[in-house]
Amino acid sequence: MSVEETREFYRDFDDLCDCAYCRNYIREIKKSYPDLAEYLDKLGVDIEKPFEISPGEPSGGYIEYLGAQYIIIGNKDYFRKGKLKNITIDLTEFFPDPGIDDDYYVIEIHPLKLKWTIEGEI
Ligand SMILES: [Zn+2]
Repeated sequence: MSVEETREFYRDFDDLCDCAYCRNYIREIKKSYPDLAEYLDKLGVDIEKPFEISPGEPSGGYIEYLGAQYIIIGNKDYFRKGKLKNITIDLTEFFPDPGIDDDYYVIEIHPLKLKWTIEGEI
């Protein structure tokens, strides 16, 4: 079952980026989008462990993310595009090589807007 394999993958996955954009995302995403967190959890995905994100620039205390990518273990033929209010969850073909031997695919979620809570320099 790919959900269980994905969940296991996320238990060990800690290759997270440490830049301000990613730290802000990881800190804010779950409380801002609890429905999305639940949606991803059903796929075995930990919303606080993004693979890649495409940040805009913070302005007025908020930041828009043009997309956030997550790895899913399994065969992509089983994936169904999803929609949650205005948010689209779909397959993407454009991502860096994660170096995974198992069957896997990458989904992209967009758009997302979060509070910007990182102090100081980016
Ligand atoms: Zn980053």
